[in-house]
Amino acid sequence: MNPDQLQSALSEIDAQGLRRRRRVLDGPQGARVTVDGRDYLSFSSNDYLGLAHHPGIAAAARTAAERFGVGAGAAHLLTGHHRLHHDLETELAAFVGLPSALLFSTGYMASLGVIPALLDRHDEVFEDRLNHASLVDSAVLSRARLTRYPHLDLDWLDRKLGESGAKTKLIATDTVFSMDGDLAPLPDLLALAEKHDAWLYADDAHGFGVLGEQGQGALAHFSLLDLPLPVGEGGHPRLIYLATLGKAAGVAGAFVAGSEDLVEWLVNRARTYIYTTAQPPLLAAATSASLKLIAGETWRRNRLRELIAHLKAGVAGLPWPLMASDTPIQPLMVGGNMEALRLADGLRERGILTPAIRPPTVPRGEARLRISLSAAHSVEDIGQLLSALRELA
Ligand SMILES: *Cc1c(COP(=O)(O)O)cnc(C)c1O
Repeated sequence: MNPDQLQSALSEIDAQGLRRRRRVLDGPQGARVTVDGRDYLSFSSNDYLGLAHHPGIAAAARTAAERFGVGAGAAHLLTGHHRLHHDLETELAAFVGLPSALLFSTGYMASLGVIPALLDRHDEVFEDRLNHASLVDSAVLSRARLTRYPHLDLDWLDRKLGESGAKTKLIATDTVFSMDGDLAPLPDLLALAEKHDAWLYADDAHGFGVLGEQGQGALAHFSLLDLPLPVGEGGHPRLIYLATLGKAAGVAGAFVAGSEDLVEWLVNRARTYIYTTAQPPLLAAATSASLKLIAGETWRRNRLRELIAHLKAGVAGLPWPLMASDTPIQPLMVGGNMEALRLADGLRERGILTPAIRPPTVPRGEARLRISLSAAHSVEDIGQLLSALRELA
């Protein structure tokens, strides 16, 4: 792309209904937001537990800011690794049930760091076709061969793993697919990883806080850590777990958890860990406060279940089906880009914010409204969304 080609390229994505525009949020994230000067009922955040604007979390951040300031001031391997980071890593590892955890500044950076730290051009990465962009980019950065398998097609994956002559193999998957809301069968994937001596890298960005009795995430949901282990192995040495802290946890950042050796290796080799400033320690204090709310306030997950059931019951009879999902991500399948945009516009005119998701984020012809539920919503909020959809049908 040359400088003089930018304008016509932009016109082109405009014509296809693919031009993205940012809206400006005034005030906090939540079920009700002020965007570009207007108030909306919003179904468009990943704030699944309604914690992004929790006063207790904000207070923890404030207290930490007063005691320790804002900037970490250095990378973790220099002097930026604060006591608050260190203690949070211990809490996070214990919470998800793995031996060790490592904090990163964002989920995207965590992902970019992991695969290149473990694999090189003699190796092969196997990824579900609907994986998040960060997992794809991480594989590309590692220079390993990248094989993408049809969504959840484990027979296909089994065959390709068997055919592979790669020195090291890694299966990477979203646990909850970010645009579809469905789950990857982690126990089956772990069995395939055992069978083919591969890593299993599970990105739980949308499961952490939401899945599991106390919100411990996808590993707990599938009782994965209770499964019998191959003889002679302690822990699940081939499991790499990633969760992000900017979605259900309502803060920012991410962590990778796994064996002590894995984490020690990442400290030494993950370039997105080493060559970047540590996140402000006040965020670690905020995440620690959030973790207590995630584990303790079960009502938030119960509320979500109630809202999901209410939405599903109400959408029956509308021309657009919901995709099969039991998570707070409830995509309403529309099809065409323009149709999805028109529907999102219609809702916006009625004071409801629900983003139209279009290619390249989703496959061509599968544009949708990504209805994202939060424990901050009420049953009445779902009712308001449903009656607006009925009007537009
Ligand atoms: C959001 C997301 C990420 C990136 O996490 P950030 O902390 O927002 O950078 C990674 N993986 C998946 C599946 C995501 O949805």
